[in-house]
Amino acid sequence: YQAKTTGAGSVLYSQSMADALLRRQLVSDRLKHALDAGAFYLAFQPQVHLADEKFSGCEVLLRWRDDELGNVSPAEFIPIAEELGLMDRLGVWVISETCRHIIDWASRGLFVPGRLALNISAQELMSPNYVGTLQETLGKFGCDPGSFELEITEHGLMRDIIAGKETLINLEELGFRIAIDDFGTGYSSLSYVKHFAANQLKIDLSFVRDMMIDQVSHDIVAATVAMSEKLGMETVAEGVETKEQADALKAMNCPIAQGYYYSRPLGAQEFEETWLMGANSPA
Ligand code: C2E
Ligand code: MG
Ligand code: MG
Ligand code: MG
Repeated sequence: YQAKTTGAGSVLYSQSMADALLRRQLVSDRLKHALDAGAFYLAFQPQVHLADEKFSGCEVLLRWRDDELGNVSPAEFIPIAEELGLMDRLGVWVISETCRHIIDWASRGLFVPGRLALNISAQELMSPNYVGTLQETLGKFGCDPGSFELEITEHGLMRDIIAGKETLINLEELGFRIAIDDFGTGYSSLSYVKHFAANQLKIDLSFVRDMMIDQVSHDIVAATVAMSEKLGMETVAEGVETKEQADALKAMNCPIAQGYYYSRPLGAQEFEETWLMGANSPA
């Protein structure tokens, strides 16, 4: 057994692997009961027009607060939920809960002055009757597909281009808008753009993060903005944290931004107090 014979490095490595496995096991165990325990909630992160910093839309982000583990990032638990086959149920919960908020806001004279973006994992999208379930869920609340943008990452979807494309076309016909999320991070970003006619392209935050320190990243962002516009898509820069980034993106004619510089993801109450329009608010 190699770890014992090749020195401390390997032993440490196998220790950290054991820790990772243990953590994964712990997260799966807790995750199985989280939905019934009511441990999920939603956060809302505004997107703004770069020109005037006014609200253009908002991304809905899933949050999990576990009694024992504390807050667990969706980047950690969503892959595990997929593996456990929990993602379909969880996805339906996110949509229902979003609709519930929309209805609640409406009942108090508040409305979202733009679309709400939901993240859809490839597994959900590829699951049979996904479109039917989505329609049914919105129908229950009387919500309109035109109020939503569906954010899709390419991971997994490229494995079955034909089926994925068909589903996306069905969704677009129903009135949903489609966004390509985390653009630039997958193995096949350009073929993704070529095969899937999307309405919006979201430039991954890793490029935005690097673009002020690295000319190549800067040029990639500029070229992506130009390409996206040429293809008739709306471009969103993700992860904008500084004024310098915002100014650089403006200079590239990037229309929309999302990131901590404008707002962190907010709980429902803070979101509605800060960003929602009421019947009496100024336009
Ligand atoms: P994403 O869809 O790319 O979401 C953007 C992530 O960037 C969010 O992380 C958000 O909090 C974070 N972010 C926003 N602005 C900034 C910034 O200025 N700087 C930095 N460093 N980060 C920023 P979060 O909420 O941890 O979500 C991580 C990922 O989990 C999401 O990436 C998405 O892929 C997935 N996810 C979240 N909610 C859901 C959901 O309801 N369903 C599915 N299938 N996936 C979800
Ligand atoms: Mg997203
Ligand atoms: Mg993203
Ligand atoms: Mg991401």
